[in-house]
Amino acid sequence: MRVAFLGLGIMGRSMATNLVNAGHEVAVWNRSAGKDVDGARTSAYPGDAVAGAEVVWMCVSDTKAVEQVLFGQGGADPALNEGMIIADSSTISPSATLRFAARVKARGVSYVDAPMTGSKIAAEAGNLIFMVGGDEAALARLQPLFQAMGKQVFHMGETGKGQATKLAMNLQIALIYEGFAEALTLAAKLGVDIEKMLPLIQASMVRSGVVDYKAPFILKRDFSPNFPLRLMLKDIRLALEAAKESRVRLPGLEAVEEVYDVAAEEGQQDLDYAATLTLLEKWAGVEVKAKAASK
Ligand code: NAP
Repeated sequence: MRVAFLGLGIMGRSMATNLVNAGHEVAVWNRSAGKDVDGARTSAYPGDAVAGAEVVWMCVSDTKAVEQVLFGQGGADPALNEGMIIADSSTISPSATLRFAARVKARGVSYVDAPMTGSKIAAEAGNLIFMVGGDEAALARLQPLFQAMGKQVFHMGETGKGQATKLAMNLQIALIYEGFAEALTLAAKLGVDIEKMLPLIQASMVRSGVVDYKAPFILKRDFSPNFPLRLMLKDIRLALEAAKESRVRLPGLEAVEEVYDVAAEEGQQDLDYAATLTLLEKWAGVEVKAKAASK
């Protein structure tokens, strides 16, 4: 298929690469110059990438970025044609998604929100899991692209339901990780060997994919971004906003937001969100590390 891929960050670059590797004809665009993908045509502005495409796939930071890429100067909008599909894998506001979809619908363009989970490692391996909102016909046409980038697609309902689901998913990741980080901090302070504790966690009902993913990075003290803290904070705020709009209380997430606020103030916004552990460590006066590594 002819695909315009807009946004070549941690996730987008690997996703576009996997589309090229699956034989699709891909034109890419990124806000900052210097990012490209082997085998894809690099475009100077979004509208240039979109001209002649069947599908426009976006993976940019936030709601404002999606709005600019679609409707800002040089944006996709003037190049959109009847029959095209827009698929958005950015995590953004569900209500803004509905507004964007309504704006392009008048032009005969379908809008599918397709946020994903799996982070950097799954994006590289083509193992992402997509949670999707949109109509069946558009989803069916996107199948070859989902297959190139991911391993599973969950159809959550009409447009907007993918983003709504994604906020509920990241709410859990943020809370699960914070629970894990607080447990490690307390255990370390009490003198427990973390390398002995990790297999126990994974043998028990506490077991989680979040722990599977993050534990090796923590043991190496590698807080380089797989999912930058600033983006998890954005998702926490989106979830709290959606909760406010729908009169839902999320006291656990509100508490976690405070930890992220302090971490961001301390300059950790471009590190992985796993770096929130270092804040807990600082408050506790302890470092979580394997006993062997501390000798
Ligand atoms: P990232 O590495 O920070 O990349 C962000 C991308 O958005 C870059 O291409 C950036 O361009 C572009 N961008 C930012 N502001 C823009 C604007 N105003 N106009 C146009 N482009 C703009 O982020 P990422 O990790 O790839 O995440 C991308 C999206 O996927 C986010 O919504 C994130 O929440 C979501 N997501 C991420 C993960 C993960 O684990 N990383 C997992 C699931 C979902 P520049 O290069 O010019 O800065």
